[in-house]
Amino acid sequence: MDLWITEYQTKNQKISCRVKETLHIEKSKYQEIVLVDTDEYGRMLLLDGAIQTTVKDEFVYHEMISHVPLFTHPNPKKVAVIGGGDGGTIREILKHKSVDKAFLVEIDQRVVELSKSFLPEISAALGDERAKVCIEDGIEFVKNQKNEFDVIMVDSTDPVGPAVGLFAKDFYRSIHDALGEDGIFVAQTESPFFNKELISSVFRDIKSVFPIARLYLCFVPTYPGGLWSFTIGSKKYDPMDVQEVITDGMGCKYYSREVHKAAFVLPPFVKELLE
Ligand code: SAM
Repeated sequence: MDLWITEYQTKNQKISCRVKETLHIEKSKYQEIVLVDTDEYGRMLLLDGAIQTTVKDEFVYHEMISHVPLFTHPNPKKVAVIGGGDGGTIREILKHKSVDKAFLVEIDQRVVELSKSFLPEISAALGDERAKVCIEDGIEFVKNQKNEFDVIMVDSTDPVGPAVGLFAKDFYRSIHDALGEDGIFVAQTESPFFNKELISSVFRDIKSVFPIARLYLCFVPTYPGGLWSFTIGSKKYDPMDVQEVITDGMGCKYYSREVHKAAFVLPPFVKELLE
């Protein structure tokens, strides 16, 4: 049988992958969760039809969302991830020896449970004693924290459903207050090809809340357009001035000191979105 899975990346563009095996399909309280094994990308997690992560290309996104802010902060000890239920971002965070505690604040318990069952290479670090999994809405969690975290990472789904509030200025204000005086925050901010207005408005909002705002890019083959953006809000340290990047023994496949620097070099069509 010739079985394919298709994501509508936009109304007029699809990505399709041949499926070797359907592993799991369910409707949780928040979203439809699908796990399939594909020929091209290995195991793949989809939420409401959108590819979240695949075993073959997950390293790009997870390394870039975590190591860029963690190497910018000189001594990150307490870190929170909002969303990120697959556990890949926590895995990368715990490669930093300075980190004592990494909180995963995921609204959907089933994403965590199913990632543990079907994506062990991505989720394994969720069992680490430095990781604490909190099943709750990230917006409420952040509201209740003051001056607590060195780094907060927003590893969210697209801005629909429960993730809408994760792209709002009020949320960025709460994050600002939840961070220590030299804290750094990063959010995944979608595709510069297909989400231009979102990138512009998020950057404007983050710039109005944090003294330093920067956007950087990486390449993820299974995300719409391939080119993907992250936006940083920082109270003190500029991620473009980072000096000390030592990745020895961390097994990074995408992130490096050179890639860190290069990721902030933006093509004119992306720069324009930030003006
Ligand atoms: N790397 C992925 C991407 O950009 O496609 C995101 C991965 S992660 C699976 C996204 C997670 O954010 C989902 O598991 C979803 O349940 C979670 N999420 C969405 N809204 C949330 C909220 N308000 N609080 C906490 N987690 C939320």
